Amino acid sequence: MGELPSDIKRVLIAPEEIQKRVQELADQISKDYRGKRLYMVGILKGAFIFMADLTRALSIPHVVDFMALSSYGKTTESGAVRILMDLREPIEDQHVLIVEDIVDTGHTLSYLHRVLKGRSPASLRTCALVRKIRAQTDVPLDYLGFDIPDVWVVGYGLDFADRFRTLPYVAELKPEAYTR
Ligand code: 5GP
Repeated sequence: MGELPSDIKRVLIAPEEIQKRVQELADQISKDYRGKRLYMVGILKGAFIFMADLTRALSIPHVVDFMALSSYGKTTESGAVRILMDLREPIEDQHVLIVEDIVDTGHTLSYLHRVLKGRSPASLRTCALVRKIRAQTDVPLDYLGFDIPDVWVVGYGLDFADRFRTLPYVAELKPEAYTR
């Protein structure tokens, strides 16, 4: 994989592992939603690369849409979340699948699930690329790529201060990179 950027501690999930798992998830989703039209909701910015690969690996008809959310103070446990950009269409009677990059505390997914459920979709499921082991969420994850340790990760869409998003792997950031 060559030399890692100096702020990267170690690679947690290699590109080939990601691609293999994304294809497996897409196969499972295509099977589960056969005969239905799937409404995929990607959460910006972090899920854009996962969403691009996942949707291209689907073998069923689907619509792609995005939402952007922002947490009110990431360090609080309040779980308050704000919608910065909403969906283009009403999702009433649609089969909706939320696609998240990462589940940490689970507040974001839990909030989003509540909001979208209130719009009366025909069905509502959730998919995340990675979940930190400390995640406690009352929203079940229907599709999950990988469980990871409770460290700050970057790459494959995930950033730190808008850096490292386009690395082809998921990696642990050196703590010095965010404490300095
Ligand atoms: P939650 O609401 O589950 O605590 O947090 C979810 C959001 O926090 C994610 O969508 C992401 O924006 C951010 N986040 C949490 N942990 C990480 C991490 O390790 N790396 C990155 N890049 N973002 C994270």
